[in-house]
Amino acid sequence: MSDDIRRRMFHEMEQKFVFDEARNAAYSYADRALERNVFPTDAALAGLSNFDEDMPQTPGNALQILQKLHRYGSPATVAQTGGRYFGLVNGGVLPVTLAVRWLTDFWDQNTPLYLSSPLASRLEVITEAWLRDLFYLPDSCVAGYVSGSSMSILCGLAAARQRNFERLDWDINRRGFSGAPRLRVVASRQAHGTVSKAIALLGFGTDNVEWVDADEQGRIRTDLVPKLDASTILVLQAGNVNSGAFDDFNTLCPKATRVGAWVHIDGAFGLWAAGSRQLAHLTRGIEHADSWSFDGHKTLNTPYDSGVIICRHREALVKALHAAGAYIVYSEQRDGMLHTPEMSRRSRVVELWAALKYLGKSGIDELVYGLHERALQFAGELEQQGFEILNDVVFNQVLVACADDAQTTATIAAIQRSGICWVGGTQWQQRSVIRISVCSWVTTAEDISQSVRAFVDARELVLKSARQPAS
Ligand SMILES: *Cc1c(COP(=O)(O)O)cnc(C)c1O
Repeated sequence: MSDDIRRRMFHEMEQKFVFDEARNAAYSYADRALERNVFPTDAALAGLSNFDEDMPQTPGNALQILQKLHRYGSPATVAQTGGRYFGLVNGGVLPVTLAVRWLTDFWDQNTPLYLSSPLASRLEVITEAWLRDLFYLPDSCVAGYVSGSSMSILCGLAAARQRNFERLDWDINRRGFSGAPRLRVVASRQAHGTVSKAIALLGFGTDNVEWVDADEQGRIRTDLVPKLDASTILVLQAGNVNSGAFDDFNTLCPKATRVGAWVHIDGAFGLWAAGSRQLAHLTRGIEHADSWSFDGHKTLNTPYDSGVIICRHREALVKALHAAGAYIVYSEQRDGMLHTPEMSRRSRVVELWAALKYLGKSGIDELVYGLHERALQFAGELEQQGFEILNDVVFNQVLVACADDAQTTATIAAIQRSGICWVGGTQWQQRSVIRISVCSWVTTAEDISQSVRAFVDARELVLKSARQPAS
């Protein structure tokens, strides 16, 4: 690298003007987050063409790069840090976690090993204990900090595969599936798409899963769950991604573990119900499971990306995810990479730790229950306006339908165009429906009412255009 670039970079680090520029841009972005169109306007999207250019031949200018990003990038973001994004279960971001993220960005820690970041190692252990406490999980449980539930589900099922094969005297890591004894996988037809993906990645094959029908709320039908045995992996769900429904853990978990089956619970956003006194009944029985996956970046409102795998059997998880190399020096302390598929990782545990430290148990209770209250309000006000609510609003999800599928689909498009709020669509019991996730601490009662008015206006637009004679 030429002295010229290095000198400029030392200057940038010393003078901090690049970071001041970033901070000013971030503040002006944040100050407008509540008013911005939730989905970018057409003009903002058109502005993205400013990024269409050839790879530069020579170094650029840091300030200009930031200015370009703020000028054309910021307007083209989805305003999910405002209060009216109800699309994916995205969650907002707690201010303290965002500030902590900035600090950790300057640390630039890599966290595979104690020796690469003693600080992250310590916070991983402390956060693990806090999570066990919060979710009432047994002391033997360990946590791995990954990018999201897609990854943590994969980890849970990999540990299950390891343990169940080991019982059959089969080392899956060395021998693979060829000639292997059969393991069974039992899951709900309403399992999340990332569960199917993990099953496929782990070589089980989705065709080999014993899929179980769900009831009208999206809960696995306990009466249809086949006889389980010690070779089975049973995948359950805390929080159906459409309806928010919770499987009946109290019935299924003890039944499964009595015969030695492994139970994994996908609780991406729903496991946090355990942190609310009034909602904890939804998660009754989860403590009997073997592994649990959930996100920080959804219900808890940490920044992206933050997922957690908790596993009751440390040995199974470590055997499934272990990597070796002459230069990889494990220590007596906690080495995070033993619990994750990744080796190099940012110190994402710090934001999770900060969120738990900031909110405490009562703050988590208020956050989680608050999302539920806003969801109930949303459902109640929509029903008053003649929309049909299709699910029991047990958590943060609301499923809504208009008079027929065509009207529902057109209404979704009109709501999205309004810029006032953003919701997506899904299929529910062979119907097209509007899917609402209330998942940000920012969302107020007024945001809900304003969004309900946007629903009503959108439906009115759709009806009006239907009444207009074809030209
Ligand atoms: C979001 C979600 C996932 C996937 O989680 P990511 O964090 O997006 O990888 C899995 N299961 C459920 C129920 C979810 O809501």
